[in-house]
Amino acid sequence: MSTCKGYAAAKSKAPLGPYRFERREPREHDVVIDIKYCGICHSDIHQARNQWSEYQEEVIFPMVPGHEIAGIVTAVGSKVSKYKIGDKAGVGCYVDSCRTCPECNAGMEQYCSVQTVWTYNGRDQQGAPTYGGYSDRIVADENYVLRMPSNLPLEQCAPLLCAGITLYSPLRHWKAGPGKKVAIVGLGGLGHMGVKLAHAMGAEVTVLSQSLKKQADGKRLGADHFYATSDPETFTNLAGAFDLILNTVSAQIDWSHYLDLLKLDGTMVVVGLPEKDIPVGAFSLTSRRRSIAGSQIGGIREIQEMLDFCSQHRIACDIEMIPIQKVNEAYERVLKSDVRYRFVIDMSSLM
Ligand code: NAP
Ligand code: ZN
Ligand code: ZN
Repeated sequence: MSTCKGYAAAKSKAPLGPYRFERREPREHDVVIDIKYCGICHSDIHQARNQWSEYQEEVIFPMVPGHEIAGIVTAVGSKVSKYKIGDKAGVGCYVDSCRTCPECNAGMEQYCSVQTVWTYNGRDQQGAPTYGGYSDRIVADENYVLRMPSNLPLEQCAPLLCAGITLYSPLRHWKAGPGKKVAIVGLGGLGHMGVKLAHAMGAEVTVLSQSLKKQADGKRLGADHFYATSDPETFTNLAGAFDLILNTVSAQIDWSHYLDLLKLDGTMVVVGLPEKDIPVGAFSLTSRRRSIAGSQIGGIREIQEMLDFCSQHRIACDIEMIPIQKVNEAYERVLKSDVRYRFVIDMSSLM
């Protein structure tokens, strides 16, 4: 075991503070990554504040959040073939899975029917708690490590590992592209990546945000249209307008209102994960054979495909870099939808 420095929430809703913990020595297939940057995902806040306990078997404190991890490889196990010392590498939302179930075999480790080992607030195959990227170092199996774009700043790529893939995967699955009208609900960390990616795929992109405050940014990021959901006319004007809606909102909103904006056979994909269940009106679904669906991050192969797509299209995240000492302040700003558009922690501030 070796000691790591990080930031943790000691218990539910406690502010994060300095914390020391142990990570395993690298095994044959492990890669050791010196963490340079870690994005702050809204899921970190939900979990540090224990807002998903109804849906989770176990919640583990002290919790070191962080699953948008980017850094440099500093050591490799004897059998590692994919990475070498000095490579730019990343770790996303999970660090292992069973590797044998039908979902794992199909490259969808995030839906492993046995156990996806979450990067933090989870347990590894040996039962030890996992700790995330608000720390100086991580040890992970090479098969769950990603190769980061060589032509883009590493700090701007860290959030691709969750925010990027969470929008890329449903955009691909529901075939966003030329001739498709796609709406992104919520222009936060996930939403802003949705706009960039859907635009790069050739879809016509509309942002549905609470106000028009972020309109200029939305257009700059690649949106063709921008509407405020606080204006009731938005819902009348856009009724039946979209093929696909990606809903990234972290809070309780009326999903039926948004379903009414879909065309015949349109789909609303929920990726935002509010604390409480939301009821859905049957008529909003039946009247135009609409669907409501969900999507969770992406598989390892697909995450690599997304990183390569971003590298090719020169797409990265709009970030605000902070020292780790400002993490609690950053959480409060995320909760106020005041983030342009992802906070990234500069891990050199831990030293
Ligand atoms: P974020 O940066 O806080 O963005 C969420 C956006 O939702 C806000 O910027 C805001 O956009 C909008 N919003 C917030 N509160 C709202 C309210 N009360 N009514 C209407 N709109 C509201 O968060 P994020 O990191 O993008 O994550 C978004 C959600 O996705 C979280 O619940 C997170 O846990 C979840 N998530 C899911 C997955 C997955 O695999 N499915 C992966 C990562 C994250 P405007 O200011 O434009 O209105
Ligand atoms: Zn996330
Ligand atoms: Zn599996």
